[in-house]
Amino acid sequence: MLWRGREGSSNVEDRRGVSGGGIAVGGGIGGLIIGILYFLLGGDPSQAPELLPGQRSSTQYSSEQKAADDTLAQFVSVVLRDTEDVWGDIMQNYRKPKLVLFRDGVQTACGGANAAVGPFYCPGDEKVYIDLSFFQDLKQRFGAPGDFAMAYVVAHEVGHHIQNLLGTSDKVHSLQQRGGEREGNKLSVMLELQADFYAGVWANHDQKMKNILEPGDIEEALTAANAIGDDRLQQEATGRVVPDAFTHGTSAQRMYWFKKGYETGDIRQGNTFDDPSLQ
Ligand SMILES: [Zn+2]
Repeated sequence: MLWRGREGSSNVEDRRGVSGGGIAVGGGIGGLIIGILYFLLGGDPSQAPELLPGQRSSTQYSSEQKAADDTLAQFVSVVLRDTEDVWGDIMQNYRKPKLVLFRDGVQTACGGANAAVGPFYCPGDEKVYIDLSFFQDLKQRFGAPGDFAMAYVVAHEVGHHIQNLLGTSDKVHSLQQRGGEREGNKLSVMLELQADFYAGVWANHDQKMKNILEPGDIEEALTAANAIGDDRLQQEATGRVVPDAFTHGTSAQRMYWFKKGYETGDIRQGNTFDDPSLQ
């Protein structure tokens, strides 16, 4: 992705230097997630290792790591700016989300969370939360390197913001409260795949507006979508695949919807809720 030297967003909140992120995960009543969060990965946040109040992981940053981290922060800021420009063009009166960079743990309007849950969006405060160390995981643990793999992650979370603005996530949430677990998981898959679709729509428009793609970029995003499909994560975690437990969709589905968004660039084609293949 051509991003160097471009202007970033003014909506990045950098909380990387905040000790412990003011977090009380594991210490407060009920500890973990209070509200609904929308994640990139299929992981169960309640399984995440907990931080004690005021405790930080022992990670120490060398000046080299810090410089690499700052480069990533700058990259994320440029991508966020691109999402603002694209969605501001597609939607009337687009309300821009904030993006919070944190380390280890963070307090949100949806409750406390730590980095182990991966990037997420909290509708309660309309903020995307990212611990930059996730991008290291994306490259090494998930085998999805490249800057556009990271851009896809940011765009997916912004996709959840779009769903929040359009009222889709609220609708889905109330349906989920009425249905059983299996139905709830199915709806969650539809919501997640739509966020992937919106990420693709963003890539389409960003390219038209700013000509930012380099050869291999779309493949990088597809590799990332492939790597974080529920079937693959489950297979790695448990050695077996249980479709009913899917909350994010399979690798093939995630790639399909990102690609559909990228190829059409048309938000009207992203109705995952009516798609026969997902019923
Ligand atoms: Zn998601």
